[in-house]
Amino acid sequence: MLSVGENIDAYCLKCKLVLAHLVLFKVDGVVSRVKCKTCGAEHKYRGTLPAAKKTAAVRTPGAVRAKKPVAAKVTVNDAPLQWDLKSRNMPAGTSIRNYSITETFKANHVINHPVFGVGFVEKVVTDKSISVLFNDSVKLMGMNVS
Ligand SMILES: [Zn+2]
Repeated sequence: MLSVGENIDAYCLKCKLVLAHLVLFKVDGVVSRVKCKTCGAEHKYRGTLPAAKKTAAVRTPGAVRAKKPVAAKVTVNDAPLQWDLKSRNMPAGTSIRNYSITETFKANHVINHPVFGVGFVEKVVTDKSISVLFNDSVKLMGMNVS
C-alpha cells in the first residue's frame, strides 16, 4: 500500500507523460491527489492514462455500439411524490383558483382542475401555456386563451 509522501506513477496533464508523482493525500485508502515531481503541478490522481482521451481511443469506427444500460434510460415519474410534498407543505389559507383555459396563471399558483384535481403551477411555458404538477404527472395546460 502506498502512503502519503511516497512516489506513484501518474499521468501529468502538463508534461503529457506518465511520470513519478508524489502522493499528497488519499481518500478512503485511494490515492486522491498527487504532485508531479517533474513540473511540480498538483492535480487529482487519474491513474496512468489521460481520462479525457480514454473514451475516444476505445471507439472503433463501424463497431457495433454496445447497448446502453437500461437503468440509465428509465425516467422515474416522481410527480406523485412531488405533489404529495407540495400539498403537505402548502401553507394554510393558500388560495386555490379554479382552472380555466381563459384565465392567466403564474408559477407557484395553486389551481383546481375539474378532472385532474389540485395542481401546482411549476412554470409559465409560453404566454398561452403552463406546466402544472398534478398528483399523477406534470401536464402542459393551456391558459390565456380567449
Ligand atoms: Zn508534470
